[in-house]
Amino acid sequence: MIDTHSHLFEDEFKDDLDLCIERCKENNVNKILIVGFSDETNLKAQELANKYDIFYPTAGVHPEEAGSDYLEKFNRLVEFIKNNKVYAIGECGLDYHWDITYKEEQHKLLRLQCELALKNDLPIIIHMRDATKDTYDILKDYKGLRGVMHCYSGSYEMAKEFIKLGFYISLGGPVTFKNAKEPKLIAKEIPLDKLLIETDCPFLAPTPFRGKRNESSYVKYVCEEIANIKGVDKKVVEEETTRNAETLFKI
Ligand SMILES: [Zn+2]
Repeated sequence: MIDTHSHLFEDEFKDDLDLCIERCKENNVNKILIVGFSDETNLKAQELANKYDIFYPTAGVHPEEAGSDYLEKFNRLVEFIKNNKVYAIGECGLDYHWDITYKEEQHKLLRLQCELALKNDLPIIIHMRDATKDTYDILKDYKGLRGVMHCYSGSYEMAKEFIKLGFYISLGGPVTFKNAKEPKLIAKEIPLDKLLIETDCPFLAPTPFRGKRNESSYVKYVCEEIANIKGVDKKVVEEETTRNAETLFKI
């Protein structure tokens, strides 16, 4: 399995990162995308990738980083990816959940990162929260862009539209939550060749660890849940989602 979205550089792992990686290996999680979202975390992702073979680093500017200085932040990202190997641009996107003060800047930042991904022939990792329509309206302007809707929380109907644009749909811990109607519908109806699995650790731990710290080895619970919902062997989900991630990120 591949955890396509982790933040294992966070403080939550500072005491037991080696053990977390051990548990990944014991559970057949053999590759992990380590996802940056700011100057500081883009650098931390590189540092960990230099230290551990299991990590594939990305770099991006998160929508919550958008402010009046968004252009400076973007320009630093451009410089950063000239000097560092990354496997994707992102995470980036739109987030209207907490704060929409810098909505315009969020839009501009996302557009710039779409162009950057296209120009560098890299996939893009999209964070989208309470902003489905605007995200779609921006992404559709970039023909040939490929990527992933990370921890997708939109509707099943819109998931099909994002797939038409060239995106994979990635499911995380929430698909295991009892009341997660839409993620379960997506797991059931979206074909396996368009699905990815992820943890978004340390956030969004799956059942039976809901509310606790998440870690990459728990991606197996996401895989199992999808297999149960689809009524297929979990080996099938493991293999297909692994192949999808290897194709998308060229890893
Ligand atoms: Zn994330």
